[in-house]
Amino acid sequence: MSSASVVGTRGLSFAYRAGAVPVIDDVSLDLPAGAVCSLTGPSGSGKSTLLYLLALMLRPAGGEVVWDGRPASSLPDAARSRLRAAHVGFVFQDALLDPSRTVLANVCDAALFAGMPRATATARARDLMGRFGVEHRGDHRPGEISGGQAQRVAICRALLTDPRVVFADEPTGNLDDTSAEIVWQALVDHAATGATVVVATHDKTLAARADHEVRLTVEGRVTTRTGVGS
Ligand code: ADP
Ligand code: MG
Repeated sequence: MSSASVVGTRGLSFAYRAGAVPVIDDVSLDLPAGAVCSLTGPSGSGKSTLLYLLALMLRPAGGEVVWDGRPASSLPDAARSRLRAAHVGFVFQDALLDPSRTVLANVCDAALFAGMPRATATARARDLMGRFGVEHRGDHRPGEISGGQAQRVAICRALLTDPRVVFADEPTGNLDDTSAEIVWQALVDHAATGATVVVATHDKTLAARADHEVRLTVEGRVTTRTGVGS
C-alpha cells in the first residue's frame, strides 16, 4: 500500500433504510497514513457508521470506500473479509468481546483467522497484554473483568496482527485518565510505524492532540482539520 493515503472515500453515502435521511451524505476524504486522525461529532452524527463503512463492514448506498486508490466497498463479501482480516484492527465501542471465550482467546482469534500461527499469536498477545496491564486476566471470561480492562483487551486484539489500519470507536470512553493515556499513546505509536489510525472520540482534549481531525455534522457531512498534534 502507498504511504500517501491508504483509505479514503469518494462521494460516500449511507442510510440504514432505503429512502431514509442519509447518516453519511456525499463524503469524500483521504485518511493519511502515519498519523492519528480523530473522528468527532455529536452523538448520533454517524461516527460509528463511518468507521463500519471504512472497515468494509457495511456497504455504502452510494459512492465508494477506496483502499490504496482502488474501490474496496464494492468488492464481493469474501474479498472484503480478506482485506479486513489482513489489514484492519477494529476496537469496537464497549469492546464487544465474546463472553463465552477467555480473554486470551478473544485477543488471538482474529489473528488466527488471518493465518497467524498459534504460538506467535499467543506470544504476541501476552506481550501486548503485559503492556496494557491485563496480562493476569488471560484465563478470565470478559464478564469477570471491568469495563476498562475489557477496553484494553480490545486494544490488544486490534493490534495483534500489527495492522496497517486501525479503527477505534471511543476506545478511551470507559477508562480512567492513566489508562486512557496508555491507550492513546499506543495508538500514536502504532501510527508512527506508518499505519493509518482513526479514533472516534467524544474527548475534545484527545481529539485536539490528533494530527488530523474529521468532524461529522448531524447532516452527515464532514469538515476536516490538519494540524500538528502531539
Ligand atoms: P455516533 O457513533 O456518532 O453516535 P452512529 O453511527 O451510531 O452515530 O449513528 C448514526 C445514526 O444512525 C443515528 O441516528 C442512529 O440512531 C442511526 N443508527 C445507528 N445504527 C443503526 C441501526 N443499526 N439501524 C438503524 N439506525 C441506526
Ligand atoms: Mg458511536
